[in-house]
Amino acid sequence: MAELEEKILNTCTLKPLIWWRYIDDIFFIWEHGEESLSNFMKALNEFHSTIKFTSQCSNKKINFLDVNIELSNGRLSTDLFIKSTDTHQYLESSSCHPYHCKKGIPYSQALRVNRICSNVENFDKRCNDLEFWLKKRGYNEKMVRGEVLRARALPRNELLNRPPRVVKDNLLTFNISYYPQFRKLKETLKETHILLTPNEEHKRVFTDVPIVGFKNNKSLKGHLVNSSLKHISLNDGKSQKCNGNRCDVCSLIQETSVFSKYDDTENFDIRKGPLDCSSKYVVYQIECNVCSDSFPYIGSTITKFRTRINNYKSAHKKFRKAFFNGESVKGIQQHKFHKHYCQEDHSGINDWNITLIDQVKGDLIKLREKESFWQHRLDTLSNGLNDKEVPVL
Ligand SMILES: [Zn+2]
Ligand SMILES: [Zn+2]
Repeated sequence: MAELEEKILNTCTLKPLIWWRYIDDIFFIWEHGEESLSNFMKALNEFHSTIKFTSQCSNKKINFLDVNIELSNGRLSTDLFIKSTDTHQYLESSSCHPYHCKKGIPYSQALRVNRICSNVENFDKRCNDLEFWLKKRGYNEKMVRGEVLRARALPRNELLNRPPRVVKDNLLTFNISYYPQFRKLKETLKETHILLTPNEEHKRVFTDVPIVGFKNNKSLKGHLVNSSLKHISLNDGKSQKCNGNRCDVCSLIQETSVFSKYDDTENFDIRKGPLDCSSKYVVYQIECNVCSDSFPYIGSTITKFRTRINNYKSAHKKFRKAFFNGESVKGIQQHKFHKHYCQEDHSGINDWNITLIDQVKGDLIKLREKESFWQHRLDTLSNGLNDKEVPVL
């Protein structure tokens, strides 16, 4: 852009009095009349085949970025320009941020107002507005007033000619996520600095007390929204038999790439897999072949699915024996599940209809989360055979 504008301005006979650009927004003052201005704009737009300019011009008042510029009696004055759609969403005062960040908001905003507003009346009005909006976001009135006064005390000329920032070399930073209990970290580092300098070599490295730098914690938005799209292959996801010669679980497995809620109100694609009797870290659904409502049960396993189901089978045999002999079944888990298959018209294991519905990559916590997710999504706690929530690890 800089190269382009230089070329354009060099070719024009009539030039603007000033020409200021911020990224791709340009402010310029034209003193040669309206007709020559439209010629100048025409020339600008003919200069490049794809870079085109839109323009707004006025001989009284115009907005540029966050500045409103007014021409009156041959003098320019400036005021803060706020879009009508601005909702003043400053950081909430209750937000878990270091206090100096919150204190910095009224101060930096008042500095901005001080720089932009060329007359005191506008400055006072804008500061009053700022105090009003910050109070609405829960800020302490006294603190806001103090910071605004601090920014006001600085002469505008000095603010407009800011000296370049001096960046110190070799500053050691102790970088840590912010937590409110860390308020005294600076003092602690100062007090314990001596521990970092037990000998000359260390003294050379740790010349100063490290400064504390708080890095951003992951926000709720960060947890909920993933900026990169995961590739989901819908084609490979399915539940299937392993067809192993000696597999005694295949007969119970339903081969499908979709599954439904017990009342058929919702259908879901299986997005992982192919999943079969040998898959690990899977979430599975066991439905009843006999009942029309299917009474689903959701479980998960880190071991091979076949091993898990064989454990279920032996538990069920044990349960049946005790149940029909009128003995105690207390030692056997998943009562609701086993009891269902001991009902009249049911014949136990042969009534199980199993679908492997989901899988995670070797992480027990994630597996439990998925199991819990599907229990709730498929409503298996109130309309199925799960008798308790997935325990939290
Ligand atoms: Zn199998
Ligand atoms: Zn049933």
